[in-house]
Amino acid sequence: MKSLSRKIEAIIEPEPVVEGAGVRLNRSIGTRSLDYLDPFLLLDHFASSNPRDYQAGFPLHPHRGIETVTYVLRGEVHHKDTLGNSGSIGAGDVQWMTAGRGIMHEEMPQVRPEGIAGFQLWVNLPAKLKMTKPRYQDIRSGEIPEIKKEGAVRIRVITGTVDGVSGPVTGIAANPTYMDVFVPAHTTLIQPIHRGHTAFAYVFEGEAKFAGDEKEDGTMISHPRLVVLGDGDYVQVITGKTAVRFLLVSGKPLHEPIARYGPFVMNTQEEIEQTLQELRQGTFVTT
Ligand code: MN
Repeated sequence: MKSLSRKIEAIIEPEPVVEGAGVRLNRSIGTRSLDYLDPFLLLDHFASSNPRDYQAGFPLHPHRGIETVTYVLRGEVHHKDTLGNSGSIGAGDVQWMTAGRGIMHEEMPQVRPEGIAGFQLWVNLPAKLKMTKPRYQDIRSGEIPEIKKEGAVRIRVITGTVDGVSGPVTGIAANPTYMDVFVPAHTTLIQPIHRGHTAFAYVFEGEAKFAGDEKEDGTMISHPRLVVLGDGDYVQVITGKTAVRFLLVSGKPLHEPIARYGPFVMNTQEEIEQTLQELRQGTFVTT
């Protein structure tokens, strides 16, 4: 079978939203223009040097039925939950939280001279794992392997296997691959992605073309933009006079119905109502 290049399916401009107790961020999945990119439910990008944009944080709130992936580029986020976990995620660190049947937690960006920057991605759980036991995987920056490729391309592998190198986050239902990719100016990168997996690139520094093939004169896409990639075996990234940095994320679509209400994502409306009833009755977190 001929190897197929992934073409651009959509280019999404992130929407400014205010979330938590008043945190300003840019959302590119989980909006009216892109409600769901199966299995990805939400992508938020936070970046500010002004404490007023982030210091209110995300006080105690619940989650059920999803996994949340927090990747910090700059600054520090403290977290604490009702299961007794607590800690801090700093620059380059990742927290992969499987909410499963339920957790209550707080996520509080710390006021620091460097401000805060990073991402939160929500990955859906399949019906059979929605009520699984909650789990945290806290990954320090130093545990994340960095691949150095031809042309001084660098890829941090957070999860999945890239060029034979596996990321430290394991056991994730959607079998996702999550990379942080840097491509210098005047460079072409051809990066394989599993055929049939949903894939997107989130450009957060610089600009690049995500061209369908070598002959095609693709559009230069500047940060911040979400690029939804059509199906294929690889993506071709071409830079011009500027370097680019982007998240490259892919995962197996679940093809299941979703019922979503704020921090809960289930399969049916009944399951959402059940969740809200447990919250009212104080039986939501039972572990
Ligand atoms: Mn949360």
